[in-house]
Amino acid sequence: MIERLYKPRLSGLARAQLTGLGLLLPSLIFTPSELFAATLTLEGPLVQGGLVQGRADTGAKVTLDGKTVRVSEDGVFLIGFSRNFPPEATLSVTFADGSKETRTLKIKQRKYKTQRIDGLPPKMVTPSEKDLERIHAESAQIKQTRKRDDARTDFLTGFIWPTVGRISGIYGSQRILNGKPRRPHYGVDVAVPTGTPVLAPADGIVSLAHPDMYFTGGTLVVDHGHGLMTSYFHLSRVLVKEGQAVRQGELIAEVGATGRVTGAHLHWSLNLFERPLDPQLLMNSHLARNSPASSQITASGTVQGTANTGGDESK
Ligand SMILES: [Zn+2]
Repeated sequence: MIERLYKPRLSGLARAQLTGLGLLLPSLIFTPSELFAATLTLEGPLVQGGLVQGRADTGAKVTLDGKTVRVSEDGVFLIGFSRNFPPEATLSVTFADGSKETRTLKIKQRKYKTQRIDGLPPKMVTPSEKDLERIHAESAQIKQTRKRDDARTDFLTGFIWPTVGRISGIYGSQRILNGKPRRPHYGVDVAVPTGTPVLAPADGIVSLAHPDMYFTGGTLVVDHGHGLMTSYFHLSRVLVKEGQAVRQGELIAEVGATGRVTGAHLHWSLNLFERPLDPQLLMNSHLARNSPASSQITASGTVQGTANTGGDESK
């Protein structure tokens, strides 16, 4: 979805005059600030789990529901909508000339499926007190990683799938593990064998690399800038180090069956800071780069197959 929103006082006719041969001197009609009061563009799905990339003018300030959003020097910003985001959001943009545009965004509401996974080791569903300590420490480590707010705009490379295969778990599903209700699934599971290469979906910097966490096993987080991060769980091998810059398409890890799983797969998640978003929506949007892999999914939530190979839980 692409929306182009022009500031109301700059009509299409006025724009044509400004960008044309200029038979009329613009300054006779507009003040200089109006010349630069131009556009606000949003690209991406306005739906629960969706990531939207915005562009405003240089020097614009942006808030979503009153919270400040980072804007790059050339006006690029990211907003995202969580699993249970309410039906409306308020986006406010204050331009460099002081003029303001406020938009009410309608956020499409989704229905989530329930996924039952049986046959997990009991300690992976009801951990011991001692294991819980470890789990909380690891969870805090991932949480801390996701607070990182970096001015880089590596996400502008667009995204490719890190690996291609059958989708065995989707974003948002309510999880019943060994008959017990657990947290929803915040990611997409791609069922591929141990050893399958995992590629960096976009440029970024490795912000977490851990060989074996309790639930997530071999764990990797890549920071793409502006709080946008992708995570990789259950890896058999982690091939990059924390702080390392990676390029789109670079080999970063190998798929495995470590942590809480019933079989080998890649758990891939997408976060805007601590807000989990849907990687499949991203890959169906204009932010996905054309690649053979990007066509593996036709529509989020309608993916074939929910076999029990994706037994895990993201933080
Ligand atoms: Zn998963």
